[in-house]
Amino acid sequence: MRSVRLFLWLILPAATLAAADYDVLIRDARVIDGAGNPWFRATVAVKDGRIAAVGALAGASATRVIDAHGHVVAPGFIDVHTHVEGNLERNPRADNFLLDGVTTVVTGNCGSSELNLTAWFEKIEKLGLGLNVASLVGHNTVRREVMGAANRAATPEEIRKMQELVDRAMREGAVGFSTGLEYVPGVYSNTAEVVALAKAAAARGGVYTSHMRDEGIREIEAITEAVNVGREAGMPVEISHLKIDRRRVWGASDQSLALIEKFRREGVDVVADQYPYDRAATNLGIRLPAWALAEGKIQERLADPATRRKIATEMKQNLADMGELNYGFATVARFTPDTSYEGKSIPEISAMKSRPPGVDGEIETIFDLMSAGGAGMIYRLMGEADIERIMRYPNTAIASDGGVTQFGIGSPHPRSYGTNARVLGEYVRTRGVLTLEDAIRRMTSLPARTFRLQDRGLLREGMAADLVVFDPARVEDKATFANPHQYSQGFDFVLVNGAIVVDEGKLTSARAGRTLRHP
Ligand SMILES: [Zn+2]
Repeated sequence: MRSVRLFLWLILPAATLAAADYDVLIRDARVIDGAGNPWFRATVAVKDGRIAAVGALAGASATRVIDAHGHVVAPGFIDVHTHVEGNLERNPRADNFLLDGVTTVVTGNCGSSELNLTAWFEKIEKLGLGLNVASLVGHNTVRREVMGAANRAATPEEIRKMQELVDRAMREGAVGFSTGLEYVPGVYSNTAEVVALAKAAAARGGVYTSHMRDEGIREIEAITEAVNVGREAGMPVEISHLKIDRRRVWGASDQSLALIEKFRREGVDVVADQYPYDRAATNLGIRLPAWALAEGKIQERLADPATRRKIATEMKQNLADMGELNYGFATVARFTPDTSYEGKSIPEISAMKSRPPGVDGEIETIFDLMSAGGAGMIYRLMGEADIERIMRYPNTAIASDGGVTQFGIGSPHPRSYGTNARVLGEYVRTRGVLTLEDAIRRMTSLPARTFRLQDRGLLREGMAADLVVFDPARVEDKATFANPHQYSQGFDFVLVNGAIVVDEGKLTSARAGRTLRHP
């Protein structure tokens, strides 16, 4: 063999001589395969967008050789809980995700997705995607299309129309059906409606993901409902961003996890995902009683003094149920009418408006913001004991619940920048909550399994060449709540479908992402 090579070297013209065995070789790497196995030392070879070989590969050549210097090479991270609609169009490279090691996102979560997936997939593909994008079809999206923000049960005719929309989205490549049962209008639905729509997704092999009706005091009921939907529709269930978000019941995650395990023993495929932070991010409207938001008539209701008082009374009761004394846990992330509120808490904004301290004034401040169109918010609601316990549960995947950021704009949740680096730096290296191999498994093969991304999530020959190279001693999230617009550090190389999109820690001009449409 060697002599044949030498012979070719002598007689072939230069252009042919340059033709290498592989497109990329990653040498001297500690391979973490994504399945949870201990690392092993090998060279990883990439050709035509696939992992072509894993082994010693001593004599192999490549167009580009990366020396990993003994650092980790792992499958690119699959973030199955994202909300990229809208901002992905502004930054189709999705810089914040790539620099956090993410090579595939699943969007359309919490009941909110694009309605016409084919048109959207075509649009974003034309823009040149930095990473791979799959989508769920959202319950709230189809319900709004058929019923608006009506606060009532769906009629059989409306259910049939919504089923048609779910079926169409599934035929267009959706990976499953998502609900956001704390949000308008999904909050007005009953379980039977959710089951009926989930069946339309199950018929085409979809997964059911749920932002449940409750994530604190009534979480046991909420998990039971989510599992029953999966059981009745005949599909796997992913509980979205599992947490305990009520101070009064901090610690209750042991019961939630025991219940999930009980259902698994009974044969229901139910797993969860989690972001590694003690604060949630969502809209301001979620703090108001759901009936007050129906039909989009919040202004009219606040204008009526008796209704306004009733809303305020229920909000005070809810605050007491949560175990909170005031709205100090609530910080504005995005408020376009007055950006000076961004990064300020509700009590701070109340003070800026010269209101006396106290919950009554804070509720009036919330009403002001709602009257101006609402706000994006960050809520400090979770305890570290629950976060760590949920993370240790073997069937919890890591997922950001983030979106594509506009660098420097607003005061977003840092999870969009730093979720994976934070798990690897804080929860693996500093606290030892997870081993490195297990953390990687929760970012790769576990989510790939649930969402049936069959050729991703494992570092094996033949799989798509989505890869990340990082130094486990150095990887670190930089984004904080006070200063969120900071990219993660330590992901030196990221490959998407075989193309190098992060090179020596810097984004390249390569756009190798594609839409992943469920067959
Ligand atoms: Zn959610």
